[in-house]
Amino acid sequence: MADAVRPARRGLMLILSSPSGAGKSTLTRNLSQNENNLDLSISVTTRLKRPSEIDGVHYRFIDRATFDAMRQHNELLEWAEVHGNGYGTPRKDVETSLADGRDVLFDIDWQGTQQIVKKAREDVVTIFILPPSMAELRSRLVRRAEDAPEVIAKRLGNARDEIARWEKYDYVIVNDDLGAAYESIKAILTAERLKRSRATGLKDFVDRLLGEALA
Ligand code: 5GP
Repeated sequence: MADAVRPARRGLMLILSSPSGAGKSTLTRNLSQNENNLDLSISVTTRLKRPSEIDGVHYRFIDRATFDAMRQHNELLEWAEVHGNGYGTPRKDVETSLADGRDVLFDIDWQGTQQIVKKAREDVVTIFILPPSMAELRSRLVRRAEDAPEVIAKRLGNARDEIARWEKYDYVIVNDDLGAAYESIKAILTAERLKRSRATGLKDFVDRLLGEALA
């Protein structure tokens, strides 16, 4: 179907959550690079930049005073304290993407997910990524070798609390194979984009279709 005749639809917000090390960052990055019409929300954070990270690409790294000011000025769509640092989603970028008819992808924790779901349930799709085992989660965090041992220990300690939130999510994927997990998310995105309830232009489209003269 050509774009010109595709019925219009509201943009959706696709949220991925998981404990640290379950593969979510790789998945969100691959999705935003390979999928059309999907913008990755770049969060702000007060945590230290990892060696492999680029400011403005992976996060916008800001200090606590800037984070607090953004919160106070209502510039964050949601925010949370995670592993002792502040994280938040700049509201403006998300609103711009949605207004331009683009979908938005989020890599945020369960607290932020709840805040966005409360604001816009109809337009939100949530996916929780589980590691295949706690041993695998630990070895992924150690293999990544970008965090200090005490930071890794803290993240593993928090992983149980995060995993306990799985029932709040629309979809749950066990990431024992990155390629398969990617395909599952793509399938969810495709199906959710086709949902009748999101298609704002469908009635006009069908009316026009029915009004067409048969050859
Ligand atoms: P990391 O420090 O490993 O990059 O992220 C730690 C956790 O913070 C992850 O679970 C990630 O999803 C979450 N996170 C990242 N950005 C945001 C955000 O903007 N808001 C919330 N609520 N959580 C975030």
